[in-house]
Amino acid sequence: MTVSPTPSAVLQCNGVERRFGGLVAVTDVDLRIDRGEIFGLVGPNGSGKTTLVNAITGFYPPQKGRIFLDGEDITGMKPHLVARRQVARTFQNLALFNGMSVLDNILLGRHVHLQPSISKTVLYWWLGQPQEIEHRRVCEEIIEFLQLQGVRDEPVESLSIGLKKRVELARALVAEPTFLILDEPMAGMNQEEKEYMARFVLDARDERGITVLLIEHHMDVVTGICDRIMALNYGEVIGTGLPRDVVANPRVIEAYLGKGHQHAA
Ligand code: ADP
Ligand code: MG
Repeated sequence: MTVSPTPSAVLQCNGVERRFGGLVAVTDVDLRIDRGEIFGLVGPNGSGKTTLVNAITGFYPPQKGRIFLDGEDITGMKPHLVARRQVARTFQNLALFNGMSVLDNILLGRHVHLQPSISKTVLYWWLGQPQEIEHRRVCEEIIEFLQLQGVRDEPVESLSIGLKKRVELARALVAEPTFLILDEPMAGMNQEEKEYMARFVLDARDERGITVLLIEHHMDVVTGICDRIMALNYGEVIGTGLPRDVVANPRVIEAYLGKGHQHAA
């Protein structure tokens, strides 16, 4: 197992393993994502995709292996310190604050140390700081980028799932990440919403130079927008490479068709 980082890599994982009690959620994961890539992470439900993201972002540190970000060893680093290194993520389950507007939810993304328990009062205290104008400028820019102007003052709970997911993306983007991790950003969306989201992910890379790790179930999206993909099954890597090669890999086909697994749409 090599433990030295490759210079062009934004992210590199070497032999990463994460267990929960006796359950091996991911094991022996080697991964390299280069600058400017949209890298897809696929696999049936329970195959370890979110766990790998949690290992990278410090929520559940790995018990084995090393993780490098821009050449720096971040293995076991706390989530807020990983976030400060211009890494932003969205969550598989929506993590928006009901009772607050779209704009306020997006503004929260400017504060990379924010705890989920933060209250509205603290938010307004914080927005009273001199950086407020800059925070608002970045938020307005991202609202325009993601075409959210029409709903910016709406309470977030009134939105469709497609728009809620877009607000989450906006909140991640206002942190001005260089590396963005999206955990099933298209889950529960209809075809049109999926296409919009796919377009925004491409634009984030093309116009803003952001490197993307995209967890996605929809294979049409993955093969359409990812440069390379990696497939997991029962926590193990079963294929890495160009999307067309990985989806044609017999082990990947079997994993998706296997008993008890949800078929990829
Ligand atoms: P995926 O995102 O591919 O659907 P997950 O990474 O969520 O898969 O889960 C991989 C395995 O790890 C599953 O068996 C899941 O039940 C288990 N797991 C994930 N998180 C935890 C946790 N916090 N505690 C215990 N088991 C977990
Ligand atoms: Mg998951």
